[in-house]
Amino acid sequence: MANVIEDVTCAGCCCVCDNIQITTDGTQILNVQTICSQGRSWFEQFGQTDPLLPLIDGRTVSHSDAVQQAVDLIHLSKAPLIWGMSQSSTDSNRAAVGLADQIGATIDTAASSNVRALQQVGEASCTLGEVRSRADLIIYWGADALLTNHCHRETLLAGHEEFPRTIVSMGTKTPGSSEDVDKSIQVEAQNTFEVIWYLRGLLKGIDFHEGESAGASISDLKELVSLIQQSKYIVFFFGPEFKQGHLSHREIEALSILVREIQADRRCHTISVPPASDTKGVEHVLAWQTGYAANVNFAAGYPRYFPIEFSASQLIQRGEIDLCVLVGAQPLSSLSTEAQKYLTEVSTILVGPANIDDLDLNVYIPTGVYGIHFPGSIYRIDGTPLPLRGLVSTNLLSEADVLTDITSILKQTPV
Ligand code: SF4
Repeated sequence: MANVIEDVTCAGCCCVCDNIQITTDGTQILNVQTICSQGRSWFEQFGQTDPLLPLIDGRTVSHSDAVQQAVDLIHLSKAPLIWGMSQSSTDSNRAAVGLADQIGATIDTAASSNVRALQQVGEASCTLGEVRSRADLIIYWGADALLTNHCHRETLLAGHEEFPRTIVSMGTKTPGSSEDVDKSIQVEAQNTFEVIWYLRGLLKGIDFHEGESAGASISDLKELVSLIQQSKYIVFFFGPEFKQGHLSHREIEALSILVREIQADRRCHTISVPPASDTKGVEHVLAWQTGYAANVNFAAGYPRYFPIEFSASQLIQRGEIDLCVLVGAQPLSSLSTEAQKYLTEVSTILVGPANIDDLDLNVYIPTGVYGIHFPGSIYRIDGTPLPLRGLVSTNLLSEADVLTDITSILKQTPV
């Protein structure tokens, strides 16, 4: 019998919308009611009933054999790395930290550069509810995917259609839907730092002249500063394009300093936007479990944080790991191309709901999905945790169950 479930939470991206209507027959998702094609694809992709099978070196094996092979590889490893979790639930993230602790691994997240900057200068942030209710100037910097996301726009507009608000887009691309954008400012990614410094100068009353190499048009920057000075509550959404390059933590630090200076006269906050289909959460779980939100190493028997030594990309590129445990859907999406190339030279285990075509894994252990097969919780873009529901049944275990099983076996036979 068809069962209609209202107000379902979607974990298909960092927006974590909780207004989806799903129809199921208990074993399959029959219908997804949402305006978002990405959300519909997420439910349809992971709600399908095609069986995923455990693999060892591409051969189909039983679940217990795959788990045992994972345990054996971990036993052989002297320098394991745990990476991914960009679409994982809180339970899964917690289990990944538990495994890292048990085996003395390094565990890192795609939010590493963000964390590195915020450890230095702190973060002034807010919830989407505050943005919706109070922000009269919203600046999307390198966050086009969020700016053009209909669900995000609806969230900000809900109940506040008449709220006077200015929207500014900054970045290399012109947003696909510019009808709601009041001003677009072209900024090449490599000029981010200069633009922030010029904005700081203009806010302090320094007069720059058109033609100076500010990384963007001086008149555009003057107009932006004028908008900032006319506004009461400003929010910067800074996205993947803003965070490119190995010095991105410096640019995030610079933005935080700019925000601090704006806050002298008015309210101003930032919200970090992850890549398109990633969610947030692992950095929160790592922080409350270890005291550090990224780049954590357990080799000494307790958590240590070093942003360069324990950066996943750099560890892989320096050849300082011999095993990588990948967790969750699309774990390679936030790894640099160079790191992905080096990953082929070490043993790899994937625990997640979809196999990876671009990497010959040593072990693949398929899992069900939180929000489709299992209840759980996940963090929204603004750091608000939201509950996920189990909608249909599966024979597969969850990521947390698989990681916890591996950890339990390792506890009985210590590394
Ligand atoms: S915007 Fe993101 S969370 Fe919302 S429905 Fe689309 S994919 Fe799901």
